[in-house]
Amino acid sequence: KIAAHGVEKEFPGNKVLEDFDLQIKGGEFLSLLGPSGCGKSTFLNILAGLETYDGGDVLVDGKHVEGVNKDVGVVFQSYALFPWLTAQKNVEAGLKIRGVPRKERRDRAAEVLRTVGLQTAANRLPHQLSGGMRQRVAIARILAYEPDVLLFDEPFAALDAQTREFLQGELLRIWENGTTKKTVLFVTHSIDEAIFLSDRIAVMTRAPGRVKALIDVDLPRPRTSESR
Ligand code: ATP
Ligand code: MG
Repeated sequence: KIAAHGVEKEFPGNKVLEDFDLQIKGGEFLSLLGPSGCGKSTFLNILAGLETYDGGDVLVDGKHVEGVNKDVGVVFQSYALFPWLTAQKNVEAGLKIRGVPRKERRDRAAEVLRTVGLQTAANRLPHQLSGGMRQRVAIARILAYEPDVLLFDEPFAALDAQTREFLQGELLRIWENGTTKKTVLFVTHSIDEAIFLSDRIAVMTRAPGRVKALIDVDLPRPRTSESR
């Protein structure tokens, strides 16, 4: 589903990705770890079509990435919400792109905001929310949007332990349910989180970043049966 072969990326005077190789199978949950500045967000932005690359191949669903793809959903390291829209409208915005009718948009947005524990904050603007709440709106937006490919850049880093644990569970539930399992790239600094969530973990080297190790997380998953 996602394939990167020999990807090269340089910012002026700063080689960020060098001979970067990574494949993520359809329906696989892969976590990407590595030291700060190794190029994790850069790779994620390349996949999202928001950043160019200098060499190699980057494919999503067999097609070269050329600009933003509406089947790819992203939760950024620093939440990107529309500041002039309420939490509810921010979530609805994604559904609008999908062409979901208004009434359905409203119901679906309310439902996912409940899922992330923000039902009482639905009518607040982003600046009236805490950082963690804003991040939850960004997560709710992607959950409502339901893209086939999900890219997460440290989505839970700014949250308290309890909220983080709750949302990790919700994320797995959503990932496992549905007709087709979603393909997930999940950037994190937490090895615990990576082990808990993923099928596989890719570990990058210091910049220029490339994948140095791939780890199969071969743990039993009681959550699979529990959550159905
Ligand atoms: P962290 O774990 O701290 O989020 P990261 O692995 O996500 O780090 P990146 O954000 O991909 O790292 O950055 C990799 C390198 O590229 C860094 O040296 C950074 O300064 C540089 N960089 C990132 N974006 C740009 C940009 N738009 N212009 C110039 N340099 C950039
Ligand atoms: Mg980053």
